[in-house]
Amino acid sequence: MYDIIIIGAGPAGLTAAIYARRANKKVLVLEAKSYGGQILNASNVENYPGIPNISGYDLATNMYKQAKELGAEIKFETALHIDKDKKVTTNKETYTGEAIILATGAENRKLNIPDEEDYVGKGISYCATCDGNFFKNKIVAVVGGGNTALEDAIYLSNITKKVYLIHRRDNFRGEAKYLNEIKKKDNIEIILNSNVTKLKGKNVLQSIEVTDNNNNIKKIAVSGLFVAVGQSPKNEIFANLIKVNESGYIESEDGVHTNIEGIYVAGDNRVKQLRQLTTAVSDGSIAATTAIKEMRKDE
Ligand code: NAP
Repeated sequence: MYDIIIIGAGPAGLTAAIYARRANKKVLVLEAKSYGGQILNASNVENYPGIPNISGYDLATNMYKQAKELGAEIKFETALHIDKDKKVTTNKETYTGEAIILATGAENRKLNIPDEEDYVGKGISYCATCDGNFFKNKIVAVVGGGNTALEDAIYLSNITKKVYLIHRRDNFRGEAKYLNEIKKKDNIEIILNSNVTKLKGKNVLQSIEVTDNNNNIKKIAVSGLFVAVGQSPKNEIFANLIKVNESGYIESEDGVHTNIEGIYVAGDNRVKQLRQLTTAVSDGSIAATTAIKEMRKDE
């Protein structure tokens, strides 16, 4: 029996573990893959206050070590099922906690085109706020038609020389206010009814091929391609029990409680305004302290 079982060892989950261990709670963290979550993909993290520059891997490793040294048990097992009695079944065992924190995060949808994985960190990014600064005065492209793509294009237009905004349809899913702002920018060029079909460059990305709906192919020289085609929260295994919205994100009125007592949410898998490292660690600390406070109330 654990006090708190945390599912997910990304920044939200590891922060929750650190806070829970500092309050002397018995903590189990379950992680299906590797600790660190999405920051493992960040070659450099430059927006974490107090640490001007660190690799995502180093930052994740520091968090992991900190949680372990404080006494959190971290097991690399895949959670397959949870129930309202706070039982978590993994691919190996079943564990029971007094509280559960769901910190499984989300993953960026990929374009699923050839060589995409090879160019990650070498021109391809899934996060303009994280990586935009590496493309100062360069030419970049954003692909997608939702609010993220529109906001990314605006954000990048203030840093880079030129932004191509490439969308597969002829109208945008994102809000008109962003689109109006984009239309006022003279360094954003919109390319509609088109998909990015090829990535080219020796070691780093140098150009992309864009194919329109009539199969015309255009080669565009870019140093960066920001993929903003949505995210998928990793909540499938909870969806039978925990309330999620139409996109699969956990709904929480106050950003920490779920619809089931004693089960809390932290990080990118919940409905929220901004999915960043800073907001994930904030969520983790709030989830752990809330769980601890509410446990105490029951004692
Ligand atoms: P999204 O709204 O799901 O949009 C994803 C976009 O990517 C869509 O335009 C979609 O095209 C396109 N797309 C999907 N798969 C693709 C593929 N394989 N190739 C090319 N294009 C593809 O995702 P999001 O922009 O990340 O936004 C997620 C949620 O967060 C939304 O509810 C959004 O409003 C919200 N959000 C809000 C703000 C804000 O309020 N400031 C900022 C960011 C995000 P189609 O349109 O053709 O399907």
